[in-house]
Amino acid sequence: MAQSKTSSKCGFRQHHCRKRLCLLKGCETWFRPRCALCRYCSESCRDAARRWSVRRAEKRYRQSTKGKEKRQQQHRSYRKRRKLREQIGGKNESSAESEGDHRDKICEGVLCARPGCYERVIPMRRSPLKKYCSFPCRRAFRRVLEREKRWKERLRELLEFDYAKTLIP
Ligand SMILES: [Zn+2]
Ligand SMILES: [Zn+2]
Repeated sequence: MAQSKTSSKCGFRQHHCRKRLCLLKGCETWFRPRCALCRYCSESCRDAARRWSVRRAEKRYRQSTKGKEKRQQQHRSYRKRRKLREQIGGKNESSAESEGDHRDKICEGVLCARPGCYERVIPMRRSPLKKYCSFPCRRAFRRVLEREKRWKERLRELLEFDYAKTLIP
């Protein structure tokens, strides 16, 4: 009769340390997270992800500066050429004009948004915001983002609940 307070009923706890997949591409092993926001199974995977994010940021930075430099250089050489032509006698104005017309097209692409993935993503005209190299990468990363979002929402609810309790005398 005496119904004991079963601790096994504590679904929250079980949910909390439920196994999950390591987010790093190439690892993808199941592990038991130590905190809610753990994304990787081990320290080495975390390191690999850090290296990857540095590399990705560098690449993006280089691309943007490369584009800028190229543009500045083109402007400089255009001005120089125009000056030279003016000194010579002002011929071929029209061809000089066309040299100034340029489109800085980035052909290299960026790294896939999934940690540990070094595949390049070429932004398409149809979907310029394409961030993942493949469907599995997209699914893996979005799954983690959703989980973290849910967790944060839950935490906020708990905090609000706690705050609400302080309002009640
Ligand atoms: Zn791992
Ligand atoms: Zn990828």
